Amino acid sequence: MPFILSGVDLGDDDRVLLFHKGRLLLYAESVFWQRQHLQSWLEELNELHLVAEKLAVRKVERKQRFFATTVSTAMLEALNAQDRSLRSLVLAGDEELLATAGKANQILDWYQSHRFCGACGEPTEAHPRERAVICRHCERHYFPRINPCVIVLITRGDEILLARNKRYRSGYYSCLAGFIEIGESAEDTVHREIMEEVGLRVDNVRYVTSQSWPFPSQLMLGYYADYVSGEIVPEEAEIEDAAWFDVRQLPSYPSSQISVAGELIAGYTASRLANRR
Ligand SMILES: [Zn+2]
Repeated sequence: MPFILSGVDLGDDDRVLLFHKGRLLLYAESVFWQRQHLQSWLEELNELHLVAEKLAVRKVERKQRFFATTVSTAMLEALNAQDRSLRSLVLAGDEELLATAGKANQILDWYQSHRFCGACGEPTEAHPRERAVICRHCERHYFPRINPCVIVLITRGDEILLARNKRYRSGYYSCLAGFIEIGESAEDTVHREIMEEVGLRVDNVRYVTSQSWPFPSQLMLGYYADYVSGEIVPEEAEIEDAAWFDVRQLPSYPSSQISVAGELIAGYTASRLANRR
């Protein structure tokens, strides 16, 4: 199964996500376009990237394929379609749709930024069987990359540490987070980020869950960590406010349905409140 297809090879059950500058084009409020909606453009769509295959509803014997592509400016103008951002899917809370559209956006972003070989500068071409591009000149292969991050909730009995990042426009309080650096284990990153961002020592660092986060291509690894010592000293450049909050009196925080941060906070809060009964 090739990972890149042409528009003319689309089947009636296939669905296509169309992107322009990171935004999704809509057909009658849906992000999924069908072959019949794209008739006059099928010839032009020569880079449809396979995103997912799922069992089609009521057709268990066959799979429905989902593709993604970037549209040209000419096509954009001719379609004259409404669009929506990927982030709006987060707020809408549709986990499955976000997973498909987020993966699609990451694939397109990776492909678009690997047109040329980083080692020798020659143009790359798509691998015939794998999700990769190859440089024929120096034989290098380039695969899509994700960037691992940790996200950590620091706990102290009935209290949790939440912080507001300077870049958040929402005013939400959330967990601390940071990218894993070269040479670090995820646990190393937890200790380093907490020391850098709020100046605290922790132990009993334990993994809870993970989540793909397509802004643009992170894998969030969620942890709990127990407070050991230190006073909160927020890192000025990043943290607007950081404080201990009692689990019965929390500020507004991200939804647990869509973000691992919300899941960590809601999970810990529920376990403490259950303990009290
Ligand atoms: Zn090369």
